[in-house]
Amino acid sequence: MDIGALRRDTPGTGNRIHLNNAGAGLLSRRTLEAVVSHLELEAAIGGYEAAGRERERIDATYGQLARLVGGRPEEIALFDNSTRAWNAAFYSLAFKPGDRILTGRAEYGSNVLAYLQTAQRTGAEVVVVPNDEDGQLDTAALANLIDERTRLVGVTHVPTSGGLVNPVAEVGRLTRDAGVPFLLDATQSVGQFPVDVDELGCDMLTATGRKFLRGPRGTGFLWVRSEALSFLEPHVVEVAAATWDGNRGFTWHDGARRFGTWEASYANVLGLSAAARQASDLGMDEIGRRAFALGDRLRDGLDSVPGVTTHDLGRQRCAIVTCSVDGMTADEVAASLAARGINVSVTDPVQTQFDTEERNIHPLVRLSPHYYNTEDEIDRTVEACTEIAAAR
Ligand SMILES: *Cc1c(COP(=O)(O)O)cnc(C)c1O
Repeated sequence: MDIGALRRDTPGTGNRIHLNNAGAGLLSRRTLEAVVSHLELEAAIGGYEAAGRERERIDATYGQLARLVGGRPEEIALFDNSTRAWNAAFYSLAFKPGDRILTGRAEYGSNVLAYLQTAQRTGAEVVVVPNDEDGQLDTAALANLIDERTRLVGVTHVPTSGGLVNPVAEVGRLTRDAGVPFLLDATQSVGQFPVDVDELGCDMLTATGRKFLRGPRGTGFLWVRSEALSFLEPHVVEVAAATWDGNRGFTWHDGARRFGTWEASYANVLGLSAAARQASDLGMDEIGRRAFALGDRLRDGLDSVPGVTTHDLGRQRCAIVTCSVDGMTADEVAASLAARGINVSVTDPVQTQFDTEERNIHPLVRLSPHYYNTEDEIDRTVEACTEIAAAR
């Protein structure tokens, strides 16, 4: 990878040390150009006319996203974020009293709220699988919990709140053996390291555009294994999802398009497509290797700073690094880093409920480099944290 060239192709790298890729990655020029040129075309000739002219490139988005996760184009539906994509999958399942939803301690906040609402509405039960001694989802415990009551296993691959990478391929083996649907929240993993739906064995996968995939904000997608359509009934129906039969009935569209909506920001869709293509072209293996190496360098550096503690769980840790500084709030640390031109964010206890219940350490400072960051930026960030911790 030519990091210098990649940085020249990323305008934001000239302004900040951007370590908030778990929040929103920096756009490349190619992606920015895809968005802006389509908006300009809409302004110049009309929105429908612009979509007509760019139809082929818009349709190619499904193929780009499928390529990225190892699925097929007809298994992709587009959304304006990952949460809506996840809701489209989750609310397509029917639950009855006594059914069980098995999830993990790293589950994302909105998913947890959806489980709780569904439990209240239907009498289904939410069961949180414990973590093992390394702090990742305990797959032996999951194996023991899966039984005839299990209606869904819903797991977050990489949490919003730390560097953990859950052992989801093992989860997939268990759910496949048991014939239980597996919904994977891959919002923080897609674009950060290789994600392959066949290797992971999930039935439904959701991701966002703006985080490690470096797409525009307001984009996301759902991948649904074709075989899973047999037990999913989309929660909403609209003209993009089904065809009126001329009487009082309708037929769902083929494939995952039945989950989608008619209207979309095509500028954003084209930006998402460009970002997905760039990630695949660069190679997700190489992207993942470098992102993890920068995460390790940052975590090791911070661990050596007096007064700073990192808090990432799991055997395998990714490019998300969480830490606390003795005697300071996470917001104070983030503000001090921002004043030095370093973008980070802060974890939110209510977005990671089960982890908050277990560890009660949030909010933490969250630093998330990506492949286009440099070793020098990482080292300068560790130095900045050393100064901040020493001055407290
Ligand atoms: C950010 C995040 C989401 C939500 O993604 P949106 O695109 O904001 O809807 C879901 N799951 C995880 C793990 C996240 O980090």
